[in-house]
Amino acid sequence: MPKYIFVTGGVVSSVGKGITVASIGTILKSRQITVSVQKLDPYLNVDPGTMSPYQHGEVFVTQDGAETDLDLGNYERFIDASLTAESNVTAGQIYSSVIAKERRGDFLGGTIQVVPHVTTEIKDRFKRLAEKSQAEVIIIEVGGTVGDIEGQPFLEAIRQMRNDVGRENVLYVHVTLLPYLTSTQELKTKPTQHSVNELRRIGIQPDIIICRSDHPISEGIRNKISLFCDVDRQAVIPLPTVSTIYEVPLLLEQEGLGHLVVDKLGLKSDQPDLRQWQELVARLQAPREPVNIALVGKYVELNDAYFSVREALHHAALFYNRDINLYWVASEDLEKDGGDALLHSAQGIIVPGGFGVRGIEGMVKAANYARTNQIPYLGLCLGMQVMVIEFARYALGATVANSTEFDANTPYPVIDLLPGQDETKNKGGTLRLGNYPCQLLDGSHAAKAYGDGLIYERHRHRYEFNNKFRKQLQEAGMVFSGLSPDGRLVEVCELANHPWMVSCQFHPEFGSRPSCPHPLFRDFIGAAKDVLREGAQPPLPFST
Ligand code: GLN
Repeated sequence: MPKYIFVTGGVVSSVGKGITVASIGTILKSRQITVSVQKLDPYLNVDPGTMSPYQHGEVFVTQDGAETDLDLGNYERFIDASLTAESNVTAGQIYSSVIAKERRGDFLGGTIQVVPHVTTEIKDRFKRLAEKSQAEVIIIEVGGTVGDIEGQPFLEAIRQMRNDVGRENVLYVHVTLLPYLTSTQELKTKPTQHSVNELRRIGIQPDIIICRSDHPISEGIRNKISLFCDVDRQAVIPLPTVSTIYEVPLLLEQEGLGHLVVDKLGLKSDQPDLRQWQELVARLQAPREPVNIALVGKYVELNDAYFSVREALHHAALFYNRDINLYWVASEDLEKDGGDALLHSAQGIIVPGGFGVRGIEGMVKAANYARTNQIPYLGLCLGMQVMVIEFARYALGATVANSTEFDANTPYPVIDLLPGQDETKNKGGTLRLGNYPCQLLDGSHAAKAYGDGLIYERHRHRYEFNNKFRKQLQEAGMVFSGLSPDGRLVEVCELANHPWMVSCQFHPEFGSRPSCPHPLFRDFIGAAKDVLREGAQPPLPFST
């Protein structure tokens, strides 16, 4: 019988519930307990695929092609496992499935209601993941905060689970924030008491309360929360703000969370072995010389839009015991006169994924700058398309070259829909999504990075390289170093006369892990770290 840990949030969002869930996974895994993770998103979209990055942050793609919440990225990085579509459930999916069943006549004669029809559908998703993953513990995060209207059916479903599968198989963890009042210099517990009351009103008594705070939490505060919220004193777990998210599992373990979970759920467990995490955190906290990387994108005001890219850069830098000094460059700023100055101290340039025409010309400029100044460049998905456009325009002289996504009538469509691809289809879930194979060219930068000829990587895009232009671009010095096994799709391209300008149609950032950087990110930083930029040269060995 699998055990379930349900994690809810109180007081405010963004207190690190996702990282807490991921960390509980790490702690259990370190005891040789198998885990799987699921995120419940109470919004009515079927998936976040059509949501603006400004609304939602990054869309994380699973190997099996689901467009999911960025928390899944943290789960994968923390428990070092690849999740599947079953790990993200939205209210949109639940309702559309219930309504489809109603139309089919599955409930013939019945009135369809939130309880039991919607809640049963939700619980089926928990059980489906348990069955498919065969994990001993399923950790389920309820998105949003307790009290949100959309979240009610999800909370009701997790409440019912206690009776369905037995009290001893279910654990409720509540993550809250303790705000600090500067005037009185104290942490306040009242919002936590209120959100626990709100949970109790629905019939859920938390077993463990994790208190996020920017300030140290005294014994008195812990006792107070224990008394007012009716949880064991040792089940009030402080979670101070830390410099790196990878420290969270260590902190929670130190506060006894692992022992508590194992004890309360009656799990058989080995001694925790978190040595790998201790080592990782020690390396992250040691002073490291930074590498200056410019990330040129359209949504840079919201760093969460590039969450996995940023993490992957940090993992890669750590491989060389270096840090990342990340310049967030709004691509539109590069379009202005003198915009190039924003790139003058970059030792490497990265152009990540994106959709739509805004800011494209700035990205083309970034690719041009990288090519003509021999600065290492990594293009991810849109970043590859931009690299191709730039090369066609300025290395080949086809100044009108473009993608039909940005100019439907371009006479030189180097990036286009493939013959047979239907433009008029629904927008949701119709991209090329998830893992596809790619054969790498021997001796190329890409093949050197991977050390393997056949790779599988995650995709999320609609447009493709247009093969009509392959020969011309090849003759001008572009190397098509990764192709689909049938040779039809360009997956990786790079430049012959450049130290390291490599781009891929897929999203390698999703596969990077803190202790195992993605090979393309690793070699990109490997090339960038030794580049000397303006002002970075060592002083001359003689005085003038
Ligand atoms: N907009 C481009 C496409 O649809 C690139 C997508 C992306 O970068 N994820 O092909």
